[in-house]
Amino acid sequence: MKLKSLAIAMTVAGSLTGAASAQEQSFISIGTGGVTGVYYPAGGAICRLVNKNRKETGIRCSVESTGGSIYNINTLRAGELEFGVAQSDWQFHAYNGTSKFEDQGPFEDLRAVFSLHPEPVTILARRDSGIANITDIPGKRFNIGNAGSGTQGTWEVIEETMGWARSDLALASEMKSAETAGALCDNKIDGYFWLVGHPSGLTQETIASCDAVIVPAVAPEIDALIDATPYYRHAVIPGGMYPGNPDDIQTFGVGATVVTSASVSEEAVYQVAMAVLGNLDDFRKLHPAFANLKAEEMISDSLSAPLHPGAIRAYRELGLMD
Ligand code: GLU
Repeated sequence: MKLKSLAIAMTVAGSLTGAASAQEQSFISIGTGGVTGVYYPAGGAICRLVNKNRKETGIRCSVESTGGSIYNINTLRAGELEFGVAQSDWQFHAYNGTSKFEDQGPFEDLRAVFSLHPEPVTILARRDSGIANITDIPGKRFNIGNAGSGTQGTWEVIEETMGWARSDLALASEMKSAETAGALCDNKIDGYFWLVGHPSGLTQETIASCDAVIVPAVAPEIDALIDATPYYRHAVIPGGMYPGNPDDIQTFGVGATVVTSASVSEEAVYQVAMAVLGNLDDFRKLHPAFANLKAEEMISDSLSAPLHPGAIRAYRELGLMD
């Protein structure tokens, strides 16, 4: 405790005199998602590895629970976050100024760091709801994701693709992910969906708390959407991953990615990229959704914004890039 306050006192004194030293602290925050998702523990895992080198690098990494992908990208753009986790469809649209980002125009300073786990469209329904596929959702009470989530953004894409209006739902709720398991089990909604890695805490919680099933997202319109876009792909949620859900679930999805801005220092991005890709065996153990991550895929797949120069420096040093 004594040591800690001494260190803080030194840092304050250092910044008061404007002295730059090796001990100078720089703070970075990673915007994630709801606490029962995978983004939040992903941010925690990244910071844990970054903070191991805090003494040498002076970088202090902290995690923020947020509304999700679109909130993270907008907050990064406003300069209020240094890093964010975002779905690959929304990374694409933010960089190109398309879809939801058309009014704001391209976020030209958006930079990719690496990609993480796959995020399939995951539809959870009460077994008594009559929802056996995505096509059964009209007429039901359904949670479409909170404002700012990549999930809600992708719901809007699904609506357009399937030719549905919002009024086709008996109820379109916009609860945060952490509230949806309770609502489903209390029969306030028939189903909810989100794009999330597996296994995820919330999916486990829902299935453990009430009779819920994961249902497929299969339709010709979805196949056409996948064919027409670079960021959606077919995906499978493996059978047996959750109790009472023995069969593989056919669906589609995106990749989770870590993004930053061109205005974040090369050193900070280098340290984050190095902490994760330079310790990938340790990182994979920090969440079961990371078990199959591969370095070559993480530095190229699902990334549509250019890599930040700090990330390129790390990947060259690690021999992952020429
Ligand atoms: N993909 C989700 C979103 O941006 C968040 C998933 C998570 O929190 O793991 O809405």
